[in-house]
Amino acid sequence: MTTLSPMNSTLIRDLTPDELPEVVMPACEARPILKGQTAIVTGASSGIGRAIACALCAAGVNVVVNHIGPDTDARRVIDQATHCGCDHRGLAIAFRADVSDESQVRSMFEHTISTFGTVDILINNAGMQLDSRVEDMTLARWRKVLDVNLTGQFLCAREAVREFKRRGVKPGVSCAAGKIVCISSVHEVIPWAGHINYAGSKGGVMLMMKSLAQEVAPWRIRVNSICPGAIRTPINRPAWETPEAYRDLMRLIPYKRIGEPEDVARLAAWVCSDEADYITGASLFVDGGMTLYPGFETGG
Ligand code: NAD
Repeated sequence: MTTLSPMNSTLIRDLTPDELPEVVMPACEARPILKGQTAIVTGASSGIGRAIACALCAAGVNVVVNHIGPDTDARRVIDQATHCGCDHRGLAIAFRADVSDESQVRSMFEHTISTFGTVDILINNAGMQLDSRVEDMTLARWRKVLDVNLTGQFLCAREAVREFKRRGVKPGVSCAAGKIVCISSVHEVIPWAGHINYAGSKGGVMLMMKSLAQEVAPWRIRVNSICPGAIRTPINRPAWETPEAYRDLMRLIPYKRIGEPEDVARLAAWVCSDEADYITGASLFVDGGMTLYPGFETGG
Protein backbone atom coordinates (compact mmCIF):
# COMPACT_ATOMS: atom_id res chain seq x y z
CA MET A 1 0.00 0.00 0.00
CA THR A 2 1.32 3.48 -0.91
CA THR A 3 1.52 6.02 1.87
CA LEU A 4 0.64 9.44 0.63
CA SER A 5 2.69 12.30 2.05
CA PRO A 6 0.51 15.01 3.60
CA MET A 7 -0.51 17.32 0.73
CA ASN A 8 0.07 20.42 2.82
CA SER A 9 3.84 19.88 2.90
CA THR A 10 4.17 21.13 -0.69
CA LEU A 11 1.79 24.05 -0.40
CA ILE A 12 2.83 27.64 -0.73
CA ARG A 13 1.77 28.52 2.82
CA ASP A 14 4.72 26.42 4.11
CA LEU A 15 7.29 28.34 2.09
CA THR A 16 8.92 31.69 2.74
CA PRO A 17 9.54 34.02 -0.25
CA ASP A 18 13.30 33.10 0.00
CA GLU A 19 12.49 29.48 -0.84
CA LEU A 20 10.87 30.44 -4.15
CA PRO A 21 12.84 30.98 -7.38
CA GLU A 22 14.17 34.46 -7.99
CA VAL A 23 12.21 36.59 -10.48
CA VAL A 24 13.84 36.71 -13.91
CA MET A 25 12.34 39.32 -16.22
CA PRO A 26 11.91 38.62 -19.94
CA ALA A 27 14.33 40.23 -22.40
CA CYS A 28 12.59 40.00 -25.77
CA GLU A 29 13.83 41.42 -29.02
CA ALA A 30 11.47 43.72 -30.95
CA ARG A 31 10.53 42.24 -34.33
CA PRO A 32 9.09 44.24 -37.29
CA ILE A 33 5.82 42.27 -37.19
CA LEU A 34 3.62 45.32 -37.89
CA LYS A 35 5.75 47.19 -40.40
CA GLY A 36 4.02 49.95 -42.36
CA GLN A 37 0.86 50.09 -40.21
CA THR A 38 -0.66 53.00 -38.28
CA ALA A 39 -2.10 52.82 -34.76
CA ILE A 40 -3.98 55.09 -32.38
CA VAL A 41 -3.21 54.31 -28.74
CA THR A 42 -5.57 56.09 -26.35
CA GLY A 43 -4.38 57.26 -22.94
CA ALA A 44 -0.82 56.70 -24.14
CA SER A 45 1.08 59.29 -22.10
CA SER A 46 1.53 56.98 -19.10
CA GLY A 47 1.47 53.39 -17.84
CA ILE A 48 0.25 50.60 -20.09
CA GLY A 49 -0.59 52.96 -22.99
CA ARG A 50 2.96 54.36 -22.98
CA ALA A 51 4.44 50.84 -23.11
CA ILE A 52 2.09 49.79 -25.92
CA ALA A 53 2.92 52.92 -27.94
CA CYS A 54 6.64 52.08 -27.59
CA ALA A 55 6.16 48.38 -28.44
CA LEU A 56 4.11 49.18 -31.55
CA CYS A 57 6.60 51.78 -32.71
CA ALA A 58 9.41 49.23 -32.26
CA ALA A 59 7.36 46.76 -34.33
CA GLY A 60 7.31 49.24 -37.24
CA VAL A 61 4.06 51.12 -36.58
CA ASN A 62 3.38 54.85 -36.97
CA VAL A 63 1.77 55.67 -33.63
CA VAL A 64 -0.62 58.40 -32.55
CA VAL A 65 -0.06 58.99 -28.84
CA ASN A 66 -3.48 60.12 -27.60
CA HIS A 67 -3.48 61.96 -24.28
CA ILE A 68 -5.39 64.40 -22.11
CA GLY A 69 -2.55 65.17 -19.70
CA PRO A 70 0.33 67.63 -20.11
CA ASP A 71 1.97 67.86 -23.57
CA THR A 72 5.35 67.21 -21.93
CA ASP A 73 4.24 63.69 -20.92
CA ALA A 74 3.18 62.88 -24.49
CA ARG A 75 6.46 64.30 -25.85
CA ARG A 76 8.41 62.07 -23.44
CA VAL A 77 6.59 59.01 -24.81
CA ILE A 78 7.32 60.07 -28.40
CA ASP A 79 11.00 60.47 -27.52
CA GLN A 80 11.13 57.06 -25.89
CA ALA A 81 9.19 55.35 -28.70
CA THR A 82 11.26 56.83 -31.51
CA HIS A 83 14.67 56.33 -29.87
CA CYS A 84 14.25 52.60 -29.22
CA GLY A 85 17.28 51.74 -31.34
CA CYS A 86 15.31 49.59 -33.84
CA ASP A 87 16.04 50.28 -37.51
CA HIS A 88 12.50 49.40 -38.49
CA ARG A 89 10.71 51.65 -35.96
CA GLY A 90 7.77 53.83 -37.01
CA LEU A 91 7.03 57.50 -36.41
CA ALA A 92 5.07 58.92 -33.48
CA ILE A 93 2.92 62.02 -33.05
CA ALA A 94 0.79 63.28 -30.17
CA PHE A 95 -2.90 64.13 -30.31
CA ARG A 96 -4.84 65.61 -27.41
CA ALA A 97 -8.43 64.31 -27.21
CA ASP A 98 -10.88 63.27 -24.55
CA VAL A 99 -12.05 59.80 -25.63
CA SER A 100 -15.49 60.39 -24.11
CA ASP A 101 -16.10 63.38 -26.41
CA GLU A 102 -17.56 62.39 -29.79
CA SER A 103 -16.26 65.39 -31.77
CA GLN A 104 -12.73 65.16 -30.28
CA VAL A 105 -12.60 61.45 -31.18
CA ARG A 106 -13.70 62.26 -34.76
CA SER A 107 -10.99 64.94 -35.03
CA MET A 108 -8.36 62.49 -33.77
CA PHE A 109 -9.24 59.96 -36.50
CA GLU A 110 -9.39 62.68 -39.20
CA HIS A 111 -5.98 64.00 -38.16
CA THR A 112 -4.49 60.49 -38.11
CA ILE A 113 -5.85 59.65 -41.56
CA SER A 114 -4.68 62.95 -43.05
CA THR A 115 -1.20 62.46 -41.53
CA PHE A 116 -0.59 58.76 -42.19
CA GLY A 117 -3.19 57.87 -44.86
CA THR A 118 -5.24 55.41 -42.77
CA VAL A 119 -5.55 53.65 -39.39
CA ASP A 120 -4.84 49.92 -39.11
CA ILE A 121 -4.88 49.43 -35.34
CA LEU A 122 -6.84 50.93 -32.46
CA ILE A 123 -5.68 50.32 -28.91
CA ASN A 124 -8.58 51.32 -26.63
CA ASN A 125 -6.51 51.87 -23.50
CA ALA A 126 -7.64 55.13 -21.82
CA GLY A 127 -9.23 54.41 -18.48
CA MET A 128 -9.71 55.68 -14.97
CA GLN A 129 -10.90 54.78 -11.50
CA LEU A 130 -13.03 56.89 -9.13
CA ASP A 131 -13.52 54.56 -6.19
CA SER A 132 -15.98 54.75 -3.34
CA ARG A 133 -18.49 52.69 -1.38
CA VAL A 134 -21.82 52.47 -3.14
CA GLU A 135 -23.64 54.71 -0.65
CA ASP A 136 -21.10 57.48 -1.25
CA MET A 137 -20.89 57.11 -5.02
CA THR A 138 -22.35 60.13 -6.76
CA LEU A 139 -24.06 59.81 -10.10
CA ALA A 140 -21.31 62.06 -11.50
CA ARG A 141 -18.57 59.60 -10.42
CA TRP A 142 -20.53 56.64 -11.78
CA ARG A 143 -21.10 58.40 -15.11
CA LYS A 144 -17.54 59.70 -15.48
CA VAL A 145 -16.00 56.22 -15.23
CA LEU A 146 -18.58 54.70 -17.59
CA ASP A 147 -18.11 57.61 -20.04
CA VAL A 148 -14.33 57.17 -20.26
CA ASN A 149 -13.91 53.41 -19.81
CA LEU A 150 -16.88 52.16 -21.85
CA THR A 151 -18.38 54.95 -24.00
CA GLY A 152 -14.85 56.14 -24.90
CA GLN A 153 -14.01 52.66 -26.19
CA PHE A 154 -17.26 52.59 -28.21
CA LEU A 155 -16.65 56.02 -29.78
CA CYS A 156 -13.10 55.12 -30.85
CA ALA A 157 -14.09 51.64 -32.05
CA ARG A 158 -16.91 53.10 -34.19
CA GLU A 159 -14.53 55.50 -35.96
CA ALA A 160 -11.99 52.72 -36.44
CA VAL A 161 -14.55 50.34 -37.97
CA ARG A 162 -15.73 53.08 -40.38
CA GLU A 163 -12.16 53.52 -41.64
CA PHE A 164 -11.38 49.76 -41.74
CA LYS A 165 -14.52 49.08 -43.83
CA ARG A 166 -13.81 52.02 -46.16
CA ARG A 167 -10.25 50.81 -46.85
CA GLY A 168 -10.66 47.02 -46.68
CA VAL A 169 -7.83 44.49 -46.61
CA LYS A 170 -4.47 45.55 -48.08
CA PRO A 171 -2.54 42.35 -48.80
CA GLY A 172 1.12 42.75 -47.91
CA VAL A 173 0.21 45.02 -44.99
CA SER A 174 -2.03 42.70 -42.97
CA CYS A 175 -4.44 39.79 -43.51
CA ALA A 176 -7.07 41.81 -41.61
CA ALA A 177 -8.75 45.06 -42.61
CA GLY A 178 -8.10 46.30 -39.10
CA LYS A 179 -7.49 45.32 -35.50
CA ILE A 180 -9.05 46.68 -32.30
CA VAL A 181 -7.65 45.82 -28.89
CA CYS A 182 -9.73 46.82 -25.88
CA ILE A 183 -7.77 47.11 -22.66
CA SER A 184 -10.19 45.58 -20.21
CA SER A 185 -9.21 44.11 -16.81
CA VAL A 186 -9.39 40.98 -14.70
CA HIS A 187 -12.36 42.89 -13.27
CA GLU A 188 -14.40 42.02 -16.33
CA VAL A 189 -14.84 38.70 -14.47
CA ILE A 190 -13.68 39.31 -10.86
CA PRO A 191 -16.21 41.32 -8.84
CA TRP A 192 -14.61 44.27 -6.99
CA ALA A 193 -16.32 45.71 -3.92
CA GLY A 194 -15.87 49.46 -3.58
CA HIS A 195 -15.28 49.79 -7.34
CA ILE A 196 -18.69 49.09 -8.86
CA ASN A 197 -18.36 51.81 -11.51
CA TYR A 198 -14.96 50.45 -12.66
CA ALA A 199 -15.98 46.76 -12.59
CA GLY A 200 -19.27 47.66 -14.30
CA SER A 201 -17.38 49.46 -17.06
CA LYS A 202 -14.99 46.54 -17.66
CA GLY A 203 -17.83 43.99 -17.63
CA GLY A 204 -19.45 46.20 -20.27
CA VAL A 205 -16.23 46.28 -22.32
CA MET A 206 -16.23 42.47 -22.34
CA LEU A 207 -19.63 42.08 -24.03
CA MET A 208 -19.21 45.18 -26.20
CA MET A 209 -15.94 43.69 -27.51
CA LYS A 210 -17.42 40.24 -28.16
CA SER A 211 -20.59 41.61 -29.82
CA LEU A 212 -18.52 43.94 -31.99
CA ALA A 213 -16.11 41.12 -32.88
CA GLN A 214 -19.07 39.02 -34.04
CA GLU A 215 -20.55 41.91 -36.05
CA VAL A 216 -17.42 42.92 -37.97
CA ALA A 217 -15.59 39.58 -38.40
CA PRO A 218 -17.01 39.05 -41.95
CA TRP A 219 -15.25 42.30 -42.97
CA ARG A 220 -12.02 40.71 -41.69
CA ILE A 221 -11.80 43.08 -38.74
CA ARG A 222 -10.44 41.49 -35.57
CA VAL A 223 -11.51 42.71 -32.12
CA ASN A 224 -10.01 41.36 -28.90
CA SER A 225 -9.51 42.38 -25.28
CA ILE A 226 -6.46 42.25 -23.10
CA CYS A 227 -7.33 41.81 -19.43
CA PRO A 228 -4.43 42.87 -17.20
CA GLY A 229 -4.11 41.81 -13.58
CA ALA A 230 -2.02 44.05 -11.30
CA ILE A 231 0.36 46.07 -13.46
CA ARG A 232 2.82 48.59 -11.98
CA THR A 233 1.34 51.92 -13.18
CA PRO A 234 0.08 55.18 -11.64
CA ILE A 235 -3.54 53.91 -11.56
CA ASN A 236 -2.80 51.45 -8.71
CA ARG A 237 0.27 52.97 -7.01
CA PRO A 238 -0.99 52.30 -3.43
CA ALA A 239 -1.12 48.56 -4.21
CA TRP A 240 2.65 48.27 -4.90
CA GLU A 241 4.59 51.28 -3.64
CA THR A 242 5.39 50.06 -0.10
CA PRO A 243 6.92 46.63 0.75
CA GLU A 244 3.88 45.86 2.94
CA ALA A 245 1.43 46.67 0.14
CA TYR A 246 3.52 44.62 -2.32
CA ARG A 247 3.55 41.61 0.07
CA ASP A 248 -0.24 41.83 0.43
CA LEU A 249 -0.63 42.07 -3.34
CA MET A 250 1.38 38.85 -3.81
CA ARG A 251 -1.41 36.93 -2.01
CA LEU A 252 -3.50 37.59 -5.13
CA ILE A 253 -0.81 36.60 -7.69
CA PRO A 254 0.22 32.93 -8.01
CA TYR A 255 3.19 33.87 -10.24
CA LYS A 256 4.55 36.01 -7.35
CA ARG A 257 5.55 39.12 -9.19
CA ILE A 258 3.71 42.27 -10.18
CA GLY A 259 3.07 42.74 -13.89
CA GLU A 260 5.03 45.40 -15.77
CA PRO A 261 3.47 47.54 -18.55
CA GLU A 262 5.80 45.77 -21.02
CA ASP A 263 4.13 42.41 -20.18
CA VAL A 264 0.91 43.86 -21.59
CA ALA A 265 2.60 45.70 -24.46
CA ARG A 266 4.25 42.56 -25.91
CA LEU A 267 0.87 40.83 -26.03
CA ALA A 268 -0.80 43.87 -27.63
CA ALA A 269 1.77 44.00 -30.44
CA TRP A 270 1.54 40.27 -31.04
CA VAL A 271 -2.27 40.07 -31.09
CA CYS A 272 -2.34 42.84 -33.73
CA SER A 273 0.07 40.92 -35.94
CA ASP A 274 -0.75 38.33 -38.60
CA GLU A 275 0.74 35.71 -36.24
CA ALA A 276 -2.56 36.08 -34.36
CA ASP A 277 -4.76 36.31 -37.49
CA TYR A 278 -7.27 33.66 -36.37
CA ILE A 279 -7.87 35.25 -32.95
CA THR A 280 -10.98 37.40 -32.62
CA GLY A 281 -13.51 37.96 -29.85
CA ALA A 282 -11.07 36.72 -27.18
CA SER A 283 -10.43 38.08 -23.70
CA LEU A 284 -6.71 37.44 -23.21
CA PHE A 285 -5.70 37.51 -19.54
CA VAL A 286 -2.21 38.75 -18.68
CA ASP A 287 -2.38 38.48 -14.93
CA GLY A 288 0.22 36.11 -13.43
CA GLY A 289 -2.67 33.80 -12.53
CA MET A 290 -4.84 36.34 -10.69
CA THR A 291 -7.97 34.77 -12.21
CA LEU A 292 -6.98 31.29 -10.91
CA TYR A 293 -8.81 31.78 -7.59
CA PRO A 294 -5.56 32.39 -5.63
CA GLY A 295 -7.47 32.08 -2.34
CA PHE A 296 -7.37 28.32 -3.05
CA GLU A 297 -3.59 28.11 -3.50
CA THR A 298 -3.30 26.98 0.14
CA GLY A 299 -5.72 24.12 -0.52
CA GLY A 300 -8.96 25.92 0.35
P1 NAD B 1 -2.73 55.16 -16.17
O1 NAD B 1 -3.50 56.02 -15.23
O2 NAD B 1 -1.27 55.33 -16.26
O3 NAD B 1 -3.32 55.28 -17.65
C1 NAD B 1 -4.60 55.71 -17.98
C2 NAD B 1 -4.45 56.77 -19.04
O4 NAD B 1 -5.75 57.11 -19.55
C3 NAD B 1 -3.82 58.06 -18.50
O5 NAD B 1 -2.74 58.44 -19.35
C4 NAD B 1 -4.95 59.06 -18.54
O6 NAD B 1 -4.52 60.39 -18.77
C5 NAD B 1 -5.76 58.52 -19.72
N1 NAD B 1 -7.12 59.01 -19.73
C6 NAD B 1 -7.99 59.09 -18.69
N2 NAD B 1 -9.13 59.64 -19.09
C7 NAD B 1 -9.00 59.92 -20.42
C8 NAD B 1 -9.84 60.49 -21.41
N3 NAD B 1 -11.07 60.92 -21.09
N4 NAD B 1 -9.37 60.62 -22.67
C9 NAD B 1 -8.12 60.22 -23.00
N5 NAD B 1 -7.28 59.67 -22.10
C10 NAD B 1 -7.70 59.52 -20.83
O7 NAD B 1 -3.10 53.66 -15.77
P2 NAD B 1 -2.87 52.30 -16.56
O8 NAD B 1 -2.77 51.27 -15.53
O9 NAD B 1 -1.80 52.42 -17.57
O10 NAD B 1 -4.29 52.11 -17.27
C11 NAD B 1 -4.43 51.84 -18.65
C12 NAD B 1 -5.62 50.90 -18.86
O11 NAD B 1 -5.31 49.64 -18.27
C13 NAD B 1 -6.92 51.37 -18.23
O12 NAD B 1 -7.99 51.10 -19.11
C14 NAD B 1 -7.03 50.51 -16.98
O13 NAD B 1 -8.36 50.32 -16.57
C15 NAD B 1 -6.41 49.21 -17.49
N6 NAD B 1 -5.94 48.31 -16.43
C16 NAD B 1 -4.88 48.64 -15.64
C17 NAD B 1 -4.47 47.73 -14.66
C18 NAD B 1 -3.29 47.99 -13.75
O14 NAD B 1 -3.06 47.20 -12.83
N7 NAD B 1 -2.53 49.04 -13.94
C19 NAD B 1 -5.15 46.53 -14.49
C20 NAD B 1 -6.24 46.25 -15.31
C21 NAD B 1 -6.62 47.14 -16.29
